[in-house]
Amino acid sequence: MATIIDGKAIAAKIRSEITEEVTRLKAQGVTPGLAVVLVGEDPASKVYVSMKEKACQEAGMFSDEYKLHTETSEADLLALVDRLNNDPRIHGILVQLPLPGHINTEKVLEAISPAKDVDGFHPYNVGRLVVGKPLFQPCTPYGVMVMLREAGVELAGKEVVVVGRSNIVGKPVAFMCLQQNATVTLCHSRTRDLAEKVRSADVLIAAVGKPEMIKGEWVKEGAVVIDVGVNRVGEKKLVGDVEFGAAAERAAAITPVPGGVGPMTITMLLHNTMESAKRSI
Ligand code: NDP
Repeated sequence: MATIIDGKAIAAKIRSEITEEVTRLKAQGVTPGLAVVLVGEDPASKVYVSMKEKACQEAGMFSDEYKLHTETSEADLLALVDRLNNDPRIHGILVQLPLPGHINTEKVLEAISPAKDVDGFHPYNVGRLVVGKPLFQPCTPYGVMVMLREAGVELAGKEVVVVGRSNIVGKPVAFMCLQQNATVTLCHSRTRDLAEKVRSADVLIAAVGKPEMIKGEWVKEGAVVIDVGVNRVGEKKLVGDVEFGAAAERAAAITPVPGGVGPMTITMLLHNTMESAKRSI
């Protein structure tokens, strides 16, 4: 039976380290500051934004929230981003996605100063990651890497299979694993014989968004399974992309859903904001 990689416990440990570091920074006269921008009324986005604010406050950071109405123009949003780029109290800027359809998301993300891009979505930061010299790493994949580190998983020479190639999870995590000398296979909806690819994985990272689509019997004996997927089934139940029970019988270690990768994302946002504040000194 697999060891459970406990995301809540790892996140709590990292957050307490961040809180200590914030105290040290404050003693030097710098309070790490995060600006969170929410446009519109998307209920899930509202929840994420309030979780991020609360996490900032708990870590002793300064957080500034901008709630803009759905009809906010692209020009007004860009003007706000510009103001935040030049605000010395702010070390990180996060524009909550998705944005309303009339706003060009790419344009907004590219307007954020790369030096305050704590989500790591600016093409400059994506490029730095790809060339192996990251400045800000996107929070969810960064959280995956920290979990692997904390679980003592050595990636050099391993076969890593990533399922899902989004810009926010699959692609960046694949480059992060490559940087640690894994041999990486990146799968997507057009991949032929996914089961065979998954069977070859020493480390499997699933980021698809389809409930339990990766079958437990595909998982290699002794593999490490990181399940990024969060899928609601029925009213209340959350499941990952991997069939947890059957996979846990074969894997050496596995992340649960919930309580796996989920808690790491905001933790890494705090980490990035703190690093940005340190760089500002
Ligand atoms: P996207 O929808 O952006 O990407 C999904 C990827 O899965 C695509 O690359 C798609 O391929 C691929 N895919 C879809 N169907 C299949 C299939 N049958 N076989 C193989 N690949 C397939 O999702 P995200 O990356 O944004 O999120 C993935 C999951 O992670 C979601 O459940 C999301 O909720 C969760 N998530 C969790 C976070 C957290 O825990 N903090 C943060 C972010 C995401 P193609 O490119 O060909 O379409």
